[in-house]
Amino acid sequence: MSLITVGTMAFDAIETPFGKVDRIVGGSATYVAYAASHLVKPIQQISIVGEDFPQDEMNELVSRGVQLDGVEIVKGKKSFFWSGKYHLDMNTRDTLITDLNVLMDFNPIVPPSYQGAEFLMLGNLMPSIQINVIKQLQKRPKLIVLDTMNFWMESALPDLQTVLTMIDVLLINDGEARQLSGEHSLVKAAKVIMAMGVRFLIIKKGEHGALLFHDDHVFFAPALPLEDVFDPTGAGDTFAGGFIGHLARTRDISFENMKTAIIVGSAMASFCVEKFGPQRLKEITKADIDARLAEFVQLVNFDIDLIS
Ligand code: AMP
Repeated sequence: MSLITVGTMAFDAIETPFGKVDRIVGGSATYVAYAASHLVKPIQQISIVGEDFPQDEMNELVSRGVQLDGVEIVKGKKSFFWSGKYHLDMNTRDTLITDLNVLMDFNPIVPPSYQGAEFLMLGNLMPSIQINVIKQLQKRPKLIVLDTMNFWMESALPDLQTVLTMIDVLLINDGEARQLSGEHSLVKAAKVIMAMGVRFLIIKKGEHGALLFHDDHVFFAPALPLEDVFDPTGAGDTFAGGFIGHLARTRDISFENMKTAIIVGSAMASFCVEKFGPQRLKEITKADIDARLAEFVQLVNFDIDLIS
């Protein structure tokens, strides 16, 4: 029951009100892989890096059950680089630099050993590349989840609209849902986006949790109220890794199980924000994850007597 993850493996420079780092490992696929590796193995990564990407990081991923046969290393070129600065509320950020570098020539080849995977996580990446990967799979996975961002809505909307008709679950944040749909109300936005061909839609609202839409159903999962949010970078990808990791582990893609999966995603994301980069995701154990899931149960568990 393998899981293919596609996305960037990158260097990030991040500034938050609590500190600054010039060059740490990041990238959508890196966060997805670290999060999902706590739940399911193997993870079959598809990405591209320059020769500057640290071998230690590759070794760490491999030791966690992440296969790298689909990660191309380009000699003489640099890895994707992203730089962002968070505002005081930590829910909004400005992208300062996006250097595509190796991503400009990315033409992923799905290795034969990855064929037959049941789950596909298309991390934030050029929509044309996401389409290319889906087309190479001889058997359609049981579930395809896609993450994207405003950058691609602005620079590659036709391709993004095409890929939306090929997937099952779309993950975006509230601002992006409004941008994609042209609607301010998230309920109206969800209807417009589902009419684009998306069966399940998850709208992430940062520290305010996430909404899951399907047909006329809606489910809300809170984010854990944390005393300190140190660096939100990668929280969305970590959420995605926890979400699909849980679905792949249980092999159950029902709406009911997706409710649990978004709680698992929220729990994983709550660890990610505690330190810069994917560091926390490398430190945590199964016991830490279970304890945090129990906190989520406490957070939303209540009794009520109906009025009548
Ligand atoms: P998140 O905070 O979950 O949105 O993810 C942040 C990660 O996404 C960073 O580690 C970046 O390297 C990566 N990233 C930023 N912009 C892009 C982009 N345009 N395409 C793909 N990955 C990106």
